[in-house]
Amino acid sequence: MIGTLYLVATPIGNLEDITLRALKILKSVDLIAAEDTRHTLKLLNHFEISKPLISYYEQNEKIKSEKLISKLLEGKNIAVVSDAGTPGISDPGEEIVKRAIKNNIKIVPIPGACALINALIVSGMSTSEFEFIGFLSANKKDRKEKLEQIKYDTRTIILYEAPHRLKVTLEAIQEVLGDRKIVLVRELTKVYEEYIRGNVSTVLEQIVDIKGEFVIILEGNVISKKELEISNLNKKTLEEHYAFYVEQGIDKKEIIKKIAKDRNVSKNEIYQYFIKST
Ligand code: SAM
Repeated sequence: MIGTLYLVATPIGNLEDITLRALKILKSVDLIAAEDTRHTLKLLNHFEISKPLISYYEQNEKIKSEKLISKLLEGKNIAVVSDAGTPGISDPGEEIVKRAIKNNIKIVPIPGACALINALIVSGMSTSEFEFIGFLSANKKDRKEKLEQIKYDTRTIILYEAPHRLKVTLEAIQEVLGDRKIVLVRELTKVYEEYIRGNVSTVLEQIVDIKGEFVIILEGNVISKKELEISNLNKKTLEEHYAFYVEQGIDKKEIIKKIAKDRNVSKNEIYQYFIKST
């Protein structure tokens, strides 16, 4: 019989956040695949669990996944854990899950701590719809491109960031997304747990020499639906823009006026365009 792959969430700071089920699974499996075996060994020692460990981190994820799949096919039960929180969330896990699915291996999640969810629920921002970005690229151009992509998103935005890149990231956010509302959730479940709330500019003033782990929660774009609709229309061709208003039963003259207003150009410019193209 082939084995089962367990994705086991571990604490993000406070060891008391381990679940009873996580302990039971970690005690029962044949092997634990860990992002950093030394780190996980400390956790296992704390709970008096002794199990064979194998390293499984981003750079060796593909090779190690293959090896772990062979072991699962031999009938071994394996738990995947990351350094903190839920495996697969900005952490290794995704690769082995994809391969396990291909090999018809049973996959079981063991729920527990996850920084993004806990930061979101204390943020005071809308929890009904959100977008998780993970870490922004360290490359300036790629980072800006990603921020441009989410600029008009009205959902709450969640980012992870390392302390040494926090300032640069917040400055990039301010530049592209504007001085919107933000909550910096610091050191969740740990002694110095803290929430810094404000606008990007006021939070930037407060983070000189700040240390620890952070989740950044940003308010979604608050421009009105109408403004958003116009902004989306302006990304379309003039013909598509025109067709949008035709569908609303608006007459020709009024459409020209509306398009000119949306695009902040003269009515004549729009009129001339359609004259030339007909
Ligand atoms: N898999 C993890 C999870 O489920 O949240 C995330 C791992 S990711 C490599 C690490 C990032 O998660 C940190 O840089 C930080 O942004 C966030 N993080 C992890 N633990 C945290 C904590 N205790 N407080 C605030 N942020 C935390």
